[in-house]
Amino acid sequence: MKVILNFFKKIISSAIKGAEPVTAPADGAVRIYTRSEHNISRAQISDNALKVLYRLQKEGFDAYLVGGCVRDLLLGREPKDFDVVTNADPDQVRKVFRNCRLIGRRFRLAHVCFGREIIEVATFRGASEEHNDKQVLNKEGRLLRDNVYGTIEEDVWRRDFTVNALYYNIRDFSVVDFVGGMDDHKAATMRLIGDPDMRFREDPVRMLRAVRFAVKLGFKLDPECEQAIHNDVQLLSSIPSARLYDEVLKLFLSGYALQTFEMLRHYGLFGVLFPATENSLAVEDNGFPRLLLIKALENSDNRIAEGKTVTAYFLLAAFLWEPVQMLAKAKMAQGEVEYIAYQDAASEILAGQIRSTALPRHISMAMREVWNMQPKFHARIGSKPSRLIGHPRFRAAYDFLLLRSETGGAEPELAEWWFKYQHASDNEQRKMTQPPRRAANGKSGRKRSYQKKAKDSASKTDS
Ligand code: ATP
Ligand code: MG
Repeated sequence: MKVILNFFKKIISSAIKGAEPVTAPADGAVRIYTRSEHNISRAQISDNALKVLYRLQKEGFDAYLVGGCVRDLLLGREPKDFDVVTNADPDQVRKVFRNCRLIGRRFRLAHVCFGREIIEVATFRGASEEHNDKQVLNKEGRLLRDNVYGTIEEDVWRRDFTVNALYYNIRDFSVVDFVGGMDDHKAATMRLIGDPDMRFREDPVRMLRAVRFAVKLGFKLDPECEQAIHNDVQLLSSIPSARLYDEVLKLFLSGYALQTFEMLRHYGLFGVLFPATENSLAVEDNGFPRLLLIKALENSDNRIAEGKTVTAYFLLAAFLWEPVQMLAKAKMAQGEVEYIAYQDAASEILAGQIRSTALPRHISMAMREVWNMQPKFHARIGSKPSRLIGHPRFRAAYDFLLLRSETGGAEPELAEWWFKYQHASDNEQRKMTQPPRRAANGKSGRKRSYQKKAKDSASKTDS
């Protein structure tokens, strides 16, 4: 690996100097795709990103678009955001842009702000094999901190997948490809740059990124990457739970939740993120728990496709619903009262989940509220329904009830009643929540006649 890298570096560094345009070396180790050889047009690039690129270039620096935006532009898709890399260091970037602030501890970056759009400008990073006092690895070989600036030909090795390592050069509108990213892009393949096991050891989150991008782009994983995931799944459990939570949000709230779930399960990654859910899926007998989860994922994808919002807590509540049920039932079998059993089960399952992926407190509280409201849907007489409907979490809890009723976990009639109740007038609502009429009259009638009889007989005795 190192030999190849050094050989490669020798070729490239002679090709790239200062602000000179990059030219392809004779043996083709770096490929330059000229403007006519690719489909990225400036019309697809955000005006603000173009401003940043041109301005850096005008100041004498190199400036490229890199990463996800180049990959997405090549597919004709609108990128989520535009990332710029340059040979200017962060302080130099700050001097060029007034609307700029520096962020990041592990690696300093510049954010150039245009209203709500932020263009991230990173300085080329140094090569990852040159561990020095500015780079810190833990004992498993995971990169904890680095702050080494480098050249473009070093920067490329720091990136994860070949299709994420294409550089769009503002100088001549070419795409610069050091690692065969363009071929992989055409072949719709996610391939790691360098040795897959080493790259996953450096940063196990790359396993999740592989799945996320493969699903989003409709790409497949290269067999070596698949094999390495197979070997390295457990490395993920060493990642701080807060980072895994962030990644979980990206995995499941980007419109491809169902496919992502299936692919994560296929590679054994889902169980590291949601061990309790994985266990419950393993013991499912009639398909219901799986169905509820699948339905929740599908609904969430559909909502995103319709431009609606989705909430993390709803999906997470669906992920952990079955584990909570299973645990609560086990507790009830040991004699715990139903209400307490469910409360305790929810606490235990949430505490267990937090060990895998952190859950911000407002999220776990909202999950609990959705769960706690499920039994309350059964109380349909008196003032309880009107109180329940006024709960800030009612809508989510009702959607959850629908999900349960659609997948056999609650009576469809119950969900229908609540649908009607929500759309009824005040008067109709009052009627719906009255005790059944005959029983009410009969009861109070009986009571009255009994009281009357008692009174009559008492007065008779008194006289
Ligand atoms: P998107 O923003 O569409 O989710 P992206 O590829 O832009 O996808 P980012 O997380 O924004 O993903 O990262 C930008 C680029 O930085 C990536 O394309 C990749 O080159 C590099 N990168 C990000 N995270 C890592 C990582 N964990 N390991 C190596 N390179 C990474
Ligand atoms: Mg990005």
